[in-house]
Amino acid sequence: MLQGLKAKSENHGFPCPQCNFKIKTSIEQILTGSSIFCSGCGLQLHIDKQTSAPALDALKQLNEVMEKASDDLAKAKKPGAR
Ligand SMILES: [Zn+2]
Repeated sequence: MLQGLKAKSENHGFPCPQCNFKIKTSIEQILTGSSIFCSGCGLQLHIDKQTSAPALDALKQLNEVMEKASDDLAKAKKPGAR
């Protein structure tokens, strides 16, 4: 169960705009503004923090919601948590 959840959370990515290769990235990587490389064609993607601020805000919120959700899930799964 936990392994499945972990695999799912590490499965973030999007298709490369150039070669359609699935580029693996993480929300953290996007939020910190790290450069992302496509392993298919070597395309380098720069995240412009200024122009993508609204998108980054949404991602940040999504990240928080997901963290809270998995936290709640962990609590709910724990026997005798009530
Ligand atoms: Zn590519």
